[in-house]
Amino acid sequence: MIIANLTYQWLGPTIFVSAGLAFLLLFSHERTQVSALRLSGAYFCAVIGFILVMLVEGDPQPAYSASIFASLFSSHFLMIWGVASLYDKKFPRVPFALALMVAASVIFYALMQPGLLWLRVMTASGFVVFVDLMCGLIVWRARSHRVDIAVAMVFLLQAAVTLSRMLGIYLARSDLPTLSAFKLSPFSSSMQTENAIFAIVIGIALFARYSVSLVMRLNRLAETDPLTGLLNRRAFETRVQVLRAASAPLPTGLIICDIDHFKRVNDTHGHDVGDAALIEVARLLRNVAGEGSLCARLGGEEFCIMLPESNDEMTRLAATKLRMAIEAHPIPSPGKELRLTASFGYCALAPDDDLSAALVNADAAVYHSKDHGRNRVRLAAEAGSRPSRQTESRDQACGAL
Ligand code: GH3
Ligand code: MG
Ligand code: MG
Repeated sequence: MIIANLTYQWLGPTIFVSAGLAFLLLFSHERTQVSALRLSGAYFCAVIGFILVMLVEGDPQPAYSASIFASLFSSHFLMIWGVASLYDKKFPRVPFALALMVAASVIFYALMQPGLLWLRVMTASGFVVFVDLMCGLIVWRARSHRVDIAVAMVFLLQAAVTLSRMLGIYLARSDLPTLSAFKLSPFSSSMQTENAIFAIVIGIALFARYSVSLVMRLNRLAETDPLTGLLNRRAFETRVQVLRAASAPLPTGLIICDIDHFKRVNDTHGHDVGDAALIEVARLLRNVAGEGSLCARLGGEEFCIMLPESNDEMTRLAATKLRMAIEAHPIPSPGKELRLTASFGYCALAPDDDLSAALVNADAAVYHSKDHGRNRVRLAAEAGSRPSRQTESRDQACGAL
């Protein structure tokens, strides 16, 4: 019987300690995850409060009760802070401070008056409802994945369960004048059980959030070029399919550009300035190409852009804009001012055109631009055909822009 009681009594604290340790381990594995450290603190502070409640015999002194509430409030503070930082949101200082002031004043009043244990428990439970609603709101507003909806729902569910218990306590308030009476009531055991269950469920939901973030981060890493942050070739080819499907039946615009005489930049200014120049060019391409387009680094100093819903003429204008932006923009360099130019090849792709052939042709157009003096824009020939006269003259016009 004693062992059974011990097992039941210690179930909640054991779960809280386990969750605290799990978040602490997560933080020790990756120090950038400070939210995990805060969540771990939330669970450890909560366990102190629960152990204090468990160990008390009879009705405690006000100072003892105050330390129970202090550890529970610290736990709630760390829970909101942890959740807010996990979702890159600010800690809601003003609502938290107001709710804390109200709760602390009511609890202080209830501590000073005999027979108001029910009011203390209700206020502490009310604060739990507030914390759950704040956490749920933060998660809901910042949601970016299905798992976030589940996390928000778990917080809301705990708020609803706690509210219904508060109602029960209020209705039975005359039977709950002291802590001893409360501990003998069904509310005490239901509170312990619910807290233990929600400690597990919230912990698992937040861990699921960490796993999703990790997978998303790994996917991003696998898809991006580490130097410029643009898409890499593989990710570009995958995303292009989606963009082309979304643009259909309209064509999409493909632009390839290669920085001119980039080897000289490295030789004259050093590799670090070369890297900075690549980052700067990537930034320009992204800004000028605009929302909805895809920008990738194909390798070395060669970049590729795909524009949604863009015909030949629109693509030519976009390529010209990019060319002029690179030409006009000085690259930050410690020595003498560095300016770059780039050569461009472009074409528009109908929904059923072959992407590989278009890439080869646009690349050939880049080298044609190089052969004709660099810093110019040229329409890619159709697969297997030579560029028309009209294309040549248009290129010259663009090159002169
Ligand atoms: P062209 O006008 O004909 O394109 O001449 P280029 O010098 O730009 O072309 P080339 O292919 O001869 O040289 C490309 C240079 O780009 C050589 C290589 O060192 C440099 N490069 C490639 N990747 C990087 C990089 O990640 N960082 C830096 N700093 N340089 C790079
Ligand atoms: Mg080059
Ligand atoms: Mg090159």
